[in-house]
Amino acid sequence: MVVTDLDGTLLDHYSYDFKPAMSVVGALKRLGIPLVFNSSKTYAEMRYLQDQMGLLDPMICENGSAIYLPKERFHVAQAAWENHGDFWRISLAKPREHWLSILSEYPDQASILSFSYMGVQGVMNATGLDWTESERASQREYTEPLMPPTNDNIKQDLIAYLGGRGAMVQQGGRFMTVGDSVDKGRAMETLICLWNQKYGGEVRTLALGDGLNDLAMLEKANRSVWIRSPANPTPDFVVQKNWQITQACGPAAWAEATQMWLEQHAHRASSNKVKEPYG
Ligand SMILES: [Mg+2]
Repeated sequence: MVVTDLDGTLLDHYSYDFKPAMSVVGALKRLGIPLVFNSSKTYAEMRYLQDQMGLLDPMICENGSAIYLPKERFHVAQAAWENHGDFWRISLAKPREHWLSILSEYPDQASILSFSYMGVQGVMNATGLDWTESERASQREYTEPLMPPTNDNIKQDLIAYLGGRGAMVQQGGRFMTVGDSVDKGRAMETLICLWNQKYGGEVRTLALGDGLNDLAMLEKANRSVWIRSPANPTPDFVVQKNWQITQACGPAAWAEATQMWLEQHAHRASSNKVKEPYG
């Protein structure tokens, strides 16, 4: 199983291009090796990307908030799985509405510029995404991004308020994201358990990422690859690990590292090939 971050990893940091990775994505498909997206993106954003790449694999959305399993592979749902189109949804976090209601009780409402407050047009203005991209990014189920208040005292007060009500606040490049206490690594562990239950044995995992929120995921994999970022230096923590650090950046580096892993594991993969319809 390949578990991957998207922005800056499978997608180019600047252009979001993934073409340099497509031949290796095709090789994974032919071998029946699932390619699991694990990022802060929403279900709508990930489904759109899967469609473009011709994939129908499990996904982990909104920073480990939920796992989505394709019904094509998982025919029978377990008790807590919810119906979600072609997928079963397994929630690992409280819903977005919970955090919206906590945000709505914050005394200084003028300082809260959230996605739900901004609307699609506001998200367009704040992100530079086009209308349909902003719409997909706005279809959040578990987390709420906010523009950080420009006044640092107000910002610290808001973070303390949210922390006191059980929220985890993640600081991103542009937004701070409010949600439950989850991470990409714990969600990946849960997915691996479900996968092993269904297919037997222990699935071997390759994980690839380029950001601090990928560390928990990289810790849980059999093989971990740090994709060098054109924007940020590689953290010392990563350098000290026995992980592969790529020379190139983005999808080209992703393809090279995944191809190398495939060559080392292809014999095992082809003998485990899943005999099920594959999208
Ligand atoms: Mg990234």
